[in-house]
Amino acid sequence: MLVWRCVGHTVVLSLRSFSSWECCFELISLALFLALSLALPLAQEKQYVGFATLPNQVHRKSVKKGFDFTLMVAGESGMGKSTLVNSLFLTDLYKDRKLLNAEERINQTVEIIKHTVDIEEKGVKLKLTIVDTPGFGDAVNNNECWKPITDYIDQQFEQYFRDESGLNRKNIQDNRVHCCLYFIPPFGHGLRPVDVEFMKALHEKVNVVPLIAKADCLTPSEIKKLKDRVRDEIERFGIKVYQFPECDSDEDEEFKQLDKELKECCPFAVIGSNTVVEARGQRVRGRLYPWGIVEVENQSHCDFVKLRNILIRSHMHDLKDVTCDMHYENYRAQCIQDMTSKLTQDNRMESPIPMLPLPTPDVETDRLIKMKDEELARMQDMLNKMQQQIHDGKDQ
Ligand code: GDP
Repeated sequence: MLVWRCVGHTVVLSLRSFSSWECCFELISLALFLALSLALPLAQEKQYVGFATLPNQVHRKSVKKGFDFTLMVAGESGMGKSTLVNSLFLTDLYKDRKLLNAEERINQTVEIIKHTVDIEEKGVKLKLTIVDTPGFGDAVNNNECWKPITDYIDQQFEQYFRDESGLNRKNIQDNRVHCCLYFIPPFGHGLRPVDVEFMKALHEKVNVVPLIAKADCLTPSEIKKLKDRVRDEIERFGIKVYQFPECDSDEDEEFKQLDKELKECCPFAVIGSNTVVEARGQRVRGRLYPWGIVEVENQSHCDFVKLRNILIRSHMHDLKDVTCDMHYENYRAQCIQDMTSKLTQDNRMESPIPMLPLPTPDVETDRLIKMKDEELARMQDMLNKMQQQIHDGKDQ
């Protein structure tokens, strides 16, 4: 019998006995094995062009360039906005903040304050911009108190639109707001009129993520009740909060389950803290009370971890994509529409964007093309006649 085994690419043969049938079978198998083992790698090598490295190239380029993200926080003063932002990004963004006393707050109007910080983690750089809105909802009469906020968002879109339409588009500074965390007080029984008005004024300009602030003030059943109520009211008032993208069908079951839990969690009940306390023998970020400790990163205490995962780990890119593809596109389309209608009304008005001249029909070129076509047709006719003559001559 012919025995063969393969060690790497070396085939070892040994002849044990002779039987023509067996030998023939063994030889055919050997031939097949050799053909497959030699031809397959060759075929694979031939098929490999190299574009499989494209994701690596994109990854390298993106890491080199760095990332940016603009987050807006809105809600009444004292709702824990700055504490939450510091807890989310483990940085002190509000070092220079001046706290107003009750008297000063009476006259305070809504301000927009930008804090920018460059953070780096494992070589990946993130330029984080926090847009704070102190004074929002603090007045007795909160009529249109969201106006400075919507104006700010529009201004950023306008700036981007101008830069994009200008000559130098290489180093455009993108200050568009990618997400707005809206803090709902934990003390009420659902949304207040100012909450509804604010979210309705912003939902078509920015990704609104509603939060229940200071969730440690409520028991788990109170949190559930408030969440259900807020969800119902969001639907009833037609507020379009940020929609998490649908999970791909080929994702594994565990991922799908996590995704479902995340979606069901909205509005996120959060707790913030800038202090580290000792709990279960570990140092954790939390709040210490006479009756115990609430841990910011404990998923059974609040939704802080889920919110952080969405903002930073899983949905930051989607938030940016939705801003760019939906909110900015809507603004841009509206802008172009307004400009065109103004132009048609008064065509003497100069457009900020130079209009391309419409192509005018070139009469001379048309005439030449027509002449060439006719010449070609004449030559084709002559050729046909000559062929016919040759054919007739052969027949005679
Ligand atoms: P901001 O005005 O909305 O930025 O609120 P701050 O972050 O300055 O917080 C106001 C006060 O609320 C501070 O004394 C914080 O320590 C406290 N605080 C912040 N977050 C929480 C929270 O989750 N739970 C509780 N109980 N207090 C909080």
